[in-house]
Amino acid sequence: MTILAIGTQAGDQPLSRMEIARRDTGPHDVRIEIAFCGICHSDLHQARGEWAGTLYPCVPGHEIVGRVAEVGGHVTAHKVGDLVGVGCIVDSCQSCAECADGLENYCDGMVGTYNGPTPDAPGHTLGGYSQAVTVHERYVLKITHPEDQLAAVAPLLCAGITTYSPLRHWGAGPGKKVGVVGIGGLGHMGVKLAHAMGAHVVAFTTSESKREDALALGANEVVVSRNEAEMAAHAKSFDFILNTVAAPHDLDAFLALLKRDGTMTLVGAPASPHPSPNVFGLIMKRRAIAGSMIGGIPETQEMLDFCAQHGITSDIEMIRPDEIEAAYARMLKGDVKYRFVMDIGRMGA
Ligand code: NAP
Ligand code: ZN
Repeated sequence: MTILAIGTQAGDQPLSRMEIARRDTGPHDVRIEIAFCGICHSDLHQARGEWAGTLYPCVPGHEIVGRVAEVGGHVTAHKVGDLVGVGCIVDSCQSCAECADGLENYCDGMVGTYNGPTPDAPGHTLGGYSQAVTVHERYVLKITHPEDQLAAVAPLLCAGITTYSPLRHWGAGPGKKVGVVGIGGLGHMGVKLAHAMGAHVVAFTTSESKREDALALGANEVVVSRNEAEMAAHAKSFDFILNTVAAPHDLDAFLALLKRDGTMTLVGAPASPHPSPNVFGLIMKRRAIAGSMIGGIPETQEMLDFCAQHGITSDIEMIRPDEIEAAYARMLKGDVKYRFVMDIGRMGA
């Protein structure tokens, strides 16, 4: 079937409306009418060709929520009318150790929701800035939040799981001091989730204007990271720091805040590398730098259920599909509170 989407034909072209095809609903497929799609900074990196290997046309979007419109004959987990979500993964090999462990995000054959290999036209996947998507049932998540929160649930599908997974893996919880660096789409979810897990949360921002907001999001303390005295007050005190910043920056300033055996995990994926960290800063306190990529399907469901139980959604600003370029420009300035969400219902308007 042919549907409307928002995408681009080249990295230096603005995103605009286009027609794309979706495959027929196969035996294990779920066809979803998309209601809302969150706008992740990864969408911008990909659409503008900042990461190597963008395939065009590029239709970004991997924070998808909507309603099941059709299911294949073998689908058991979902039925027509259900509220569902799709995140960053639409396929994987289903036979490796990672897939067996429910860590499809680390499968070498993982297929991203956009820019991934597929036999469907045009030969690579096209994402959620579109009216509908057809996805194997394994990669479709159940949404149990109230329906009137649906738009604010969309960002959980990437920003939520990308922060939830490392917070869980590195043990954020009662008695732990956890830092979240960069209070954007990912970072504001990281603050909410770490707070709900019971950690003592310190938000690090470059934006003085986010100081009050970060406290309202659940931070116990806020540090404006350009202020050296504020940074120094937290030296050698953190168990864990989650760094979501989308641009290269001085990592040593944050490593110095880790106590012995502390870890800083990077989830931000800037287009060019960070300056190298000072090795002595790591050696002296047996500190570690790590990375983490989204999360597997079972953990994504766990995160959605955790958020529903704790009343957690994203703070969003709704945009029309034709406002995407203005939204990208504001995202680049850190001027989003705290996630843009595209109202797909207005795609045809
Ligand atoms: P975002 O909404 O633009 O937030 C990034 C935040 O980083 C900004 O709001 C800003 O926060 C801070 N920041 C930006 N430029 C900075 C600079 N030059 N120096 C210091 N701080 C700066 O982006 P996002 O959607 O949260 O995504 C963040 C990054 O994570 C992107 O690179 C994205 O591609 C990546 N990502 C990775 C994964 C994964 O699986 N690992 C998943 C999704 C996204 P303050 O105003 O508070 O300083
Ligand atoms: Zn994302």
